[in-house]
Amino acid sequence: MPDYRMTNCHIHLFTLDHVPQNFPVPIVGFLRGQPGLINAIAWVLEKTFWKDQGGQVRRLGRMAAVGRKPTQEAVLRSVLHQYSTGTRFVVLPMDIAAGGYDTPEISLEQQHYDLHRLASKPQFRDLLVPFAKVHPARGQAAFDEFRKCIEEYGFRGLKLYPKLGHAPDDRLLMDKVYPYCVDNNLPVITHCSRGGVYARGWDSRRGEEMGAPLRYVPVLEAFPELRINLAHFGGSREWADYVAGIDPLDPAARRRNWVTCIRDMINSGKYPNLYTDISYTMFDFEENMPFLAVFLEKESLRRKVLFGSDYYMTKQEDLSERAVSMRLRHALGADVFREISEVNPTLWLTGGHG
Ligand SMILES: [Zn+2]
Repeated sequence: MPDYRMTNCHIHLFTLDHVPQNFPVPIVGFLRGQPGLINAIAWVLEKTFWKDQGGQVRRLGRMAAVGRKPTQEAVLRSVLHQYSTGTRFVVLPMDIAAGGYDTPEISLEQQHYDLHRLASKPQFRDLLVPFAKVHPARGQAAFDEFRKCIEEYGFRGLKLYPKLGHAPDDRLLMDKVYPYCVDNNLPVITHCSRGGVYARGWDSRRGEEMGAPLRYVPVLEAFPELRINLAHFGGSREWADYVAGIDPLDPAARRRNWVTCIRDMINSGKYPNLYTDISYTMFDFEENMPFLAVFLEKESLRRKVLFGSDYYMTKQEDLSERAVSMRLRHALGADVFREISEVNPTLWLTGGHG
């Protein structure tokens, strides 16, 4: 048993009631509530030429099965047993509706409030570190709601998702939200992978470019004290490209690949409060683990990498949370694992104050 307390810096507890019915298209909204139908479609596809797509549908079905749970608490209870007693979880709400979709069954305000109630229960008070979601499309109301989450609910940080339709240096963020985070010593986590959801009417590429690592440079320069976690360390596709190899004769290749880009940004020393987390990405364990272990040999990077999993998006993958976290600890050794799962998360969350 570890003699330290680990923090998983990245999980989700929102349910399908928090996801718009027309996301990403209405048919999916209908299907997600029909587990039998999902499995039937997967079964049929798997018997045909579209075997891979069948597997994909089955994996999405596994994720939807967690999303169909009735409450955020039910989702939490489905992950707790996979971690050692006392593990803390940074909980990240989701606001897909603000990306141009319909209002979901349960509003963002209610999602925040329910998370606050959950995190106030005696058995979870020490385990949950709730963050609040801001989407600048909601304007001043988004900032007011954020302040309410911090000041009334005791939330501990900010969650962003630029792929859902805003720049990381959007005016509302630059003028109000980031200064408020600096004044109140609040950390930021932002989706930084090519995968995931994107705003309605956008294509994936437009979403990706909006959330690219270099888009954060103006934010990092304007707010050097702001502790920002670029979640997913670039994401699975960028890792696959990195594992395949980066062309040393192409000067733009290191900037183009998000893994090298994030590593170079952190190692440059120019942004002392820039972090990244390895959530989801490490579920491709066999391929990515040796590369992560080598990256972490460098101290400047090792101090900025955070352990996180991205539960329950990871239900699409074959390995469990438990398997990935134990394999990580085994592969990295207790000391390095402790750095990324206890020391660094505490510094990111508190800045070393309290
Ligand atoms: Zn996530």
